[in-house]
Amino acid sequence: MVKCNPNYGKLAAGYLFPEIGRRVKAFTTGNPGVKVMRLGVGDTTQPLEPSIVKAMHAAVDGLSREDTYSGYGDEQGNAALRAAIAAWYGERGVTVEGGEVFVSDGAKCDSANIASIFASDSVVAVQDPAYPVYVDSNVIAGRTASFKDGRYEGLVYLPCTEENGFVPSPPSGKVDLIYLCSPNNPTGAVATREQLAEFVEYARANGAVIIFDAAYSFFITDSSLPRSIYEIPGAAECAIELSSFSKFAGFTGVRLGWSVVPKALKGDGCGDGGLNALWNRRQCTMFNGASNVAQAGGLAALSPEGREECGKTIEYYMENARVIREGLSSLGFKAYGGVNAPFAWVKTPGVGSWEFFDKLLNECRVVCTPGAGFGPCGEGFVRFSAFGRRENVQAAVASIRENLKL
Ligand SMILES: *Cc1c(COP(=O)(O)O)cnc(C)c1O
Repeated sequence: MVKCNPNYGKLAAGYLFPEIGRRVKAFTTGNPGVKVMRLGVGDTTQPLEPSIVKAMHAAVDGLSREDTYSGYGDEQGNAALRAAIAAWYGERGVTVEGGEVFVSDGAKCDSANIASIFASDSVVAVQDPAYPVYVDSNVIAGRTASFKDGRYEGLVYLPCTEENGFVPSPPSGKVDLIYLCSPNNPTGAVATREQLAEFVEYARANGAVIIFDAAYSFFITDSSLPRSIYEIPGAAECAIELSSFSKFAGFTGVRLGWSVVPKALKGDGCGDGGLNALWNRRQCTMFNGASNVAQAGGLAALSPEGREECGKTIEYYMENARVIREGLSSLGFKAYGGVNAPFAWVKTPGVGSWEFFDKLLNECRVVCTPGAGFGPCGEGFVRFSAFGRRENVQAAVASIRENLKL
């Protein structure tokens, strides 16, 4: 028989969201006709903006005619979109060239694939709790030993706790790769300039690379908070940034994201082209470019009109976040996040996160996400997502107020 990749066997219990789906299904089967209110999975619900729809329609029309049809595009993305993304960084006061931007079909794939340009024995640090892809992709790649007592041996966990405001300090020992997500999924915490500067300093001193997931940067309203790691001096020599159109432009189903690999980012054994050349090689070998229709939509999303429209939808979601945060706080819960990020991170009242998940589901018909599914330090918390219809969010908070038995 063929030998399978044994690392899949190391993965701890099924992926978080299928387990939530299983429990919700069991509930709806047992309670036919009862409607559940989903504040769990962070999926967008509001329709695409008019300027984006118009651009995507035009792109499809172009494909429908022989004289304007186009097939494969550049693996790295179309030049106009790469330039528009680079220009977005320019507005933050940082210099990114189009040649440092790689357009993709989303940040989830990029966050899983990016580690393939580093040595297989690289030591990896993750925030705890973390977006599960960072951990699981490195388990599959063989960078960890087995799962014991809630943790993978060989992986360095950076605890995000109430005490540190859910933003950890850099590792005490030496690591090679550090995954940072800010604004953070799941905690909703945003790293300050000073906090990111500490990581940049650590990375430069230790020859480490930061993989910075900025998928929620457009949700930052406080102008003193960094939206890109490149706002920190020296980051271009030690950080890769990932981002996505999914959350700010509602592209979760359309699929479009990008990575930035600065040309200044060097590594042992990757030659003069540095990590940019390696990632370019990886993408050209294994990826054939993002959908041309999606890229036309992405370009429209970054236009002044698109940005204004997307901004209004972001405000809509952030008002949901306020309803959740303030509603739960008024019930006596400790609710964090939800100000510059579309997630509220709520402390469970003396019960474990899965137990509280079950209570909310059974007593209130509300679906949240158990913090323990994001890492051991997520135990004792649940995540509420602000993506949803306002009526649904209000009804969920009202149902918790009326039905939760503490
Ligand atoms: C939603 C999300 C992404 C975006 O993923 P896509 O593949 O672009 O849809 C990336 N990182 C985090 C932390 C996310 O929550």
